[in-house]
Amino acid sequence: MDYDMPLYRPPSEGRSLIFQVTLGCSWNKCLFCGMYKGKRFKARPWEDLERDINEMSRYVPDTRKVFLADGDPLCLDTDYLVKVLKLITERFPNLERVSTYAGPTNLMEKSVDELRELKAHKLDILYLGIETGNEELLKKIHKGASSAEIIEGSRKAIEAGLRMSTFIILGLGGVEGSYAHAKDSAKVSNAIDPQFLATLTLMLGPYEEVYEKKLMGGNFKLLNKMESLQELRWFIEDLEVTNAKFGSEHASNYLPLRGTLPGDKEKILSLIDKALKDDRSGLLRPEWQRGL
Ligand code: SF4
Repeated sequence: MDYDMPLYRPPSEGRSLIFQVTLGCSWNKCLFCGMYKGKRFKARPWEDLERDINEMSRYVPDTRKVFLADGDPLCLDTDYLVKVLKLITERFPNLERVSTYAGPTNLMEKSVDELRELKAHKLDILYLGIETGNEELLKKIHKGASSAEIIEGSRKAIEAGLRMSTFIILGLGGVEGSYAHAKDSAKVSNAIDPQFLATLTLMLGPYEEVYEKKLMGGNFKLLNKMESLQELRWFIEDLEVTNAKFGSEHASNYLPLRGTLPGDKEKILSLIDKALKDDRSGLLRPEWQRGL
């Protein structure tokens, strides 16, 4: 099986077998995201996908976890996705779960019954970028959905029995928008009440100038290390999720944290405070170790 590069998957899917059901992202307009800008979106032909699944079932028949790529296979018709899931389930008898990325626009187009049907065929975890709960910022980054739509789509998936793994991008609102971004993102996370919650930190590289001009008309200023930590604290302190695994271990973050919320909230906050008081506490990832 050959992959059409670049290929992305969440860090937690490092041991999953990946099948590319689609190439690129059907939305592909988020201003901060360069993941699939070089790919034209398309659904891969069924014959190619079928061949990949059959081939890999001979090499790794004991596969337990499968991840469907690229950016948002959930944009495809439910009947087609069921056909894909059925073949995967047939070919891998020890399969425990299938996961995929989902955009809010995909979830808006699916009914609870359709999502239930996918769940019945072993789709289990959806990775969804909330990015921010701030309405103004959602428009500026061209997310294609309002915070109410992100909440509604995610709640539908949870009602259907799927597990939601959502993430926020620290720094997305720059210095000026930092507080509102953190607070509104906590509100949306609370309303979704996901099973997994993570943060990433905005890293733009050579794209910084374009983002700065397009997004904020020149007023955008990237957060520094301590400002990013403060934003993380503002976000975490408002979280009232009922039972979520939280992680900020993604390589883009300055402070790798892990815990279950609400149980570990105080512990997480005290680690952030410790790092905020002393940037040489040894808790922070050095700049050279950060990456996407
Ligand atoms: S929906 Fe996801 S993959 Fe597509 S452009 Fe936005 S952030 Fe990138």
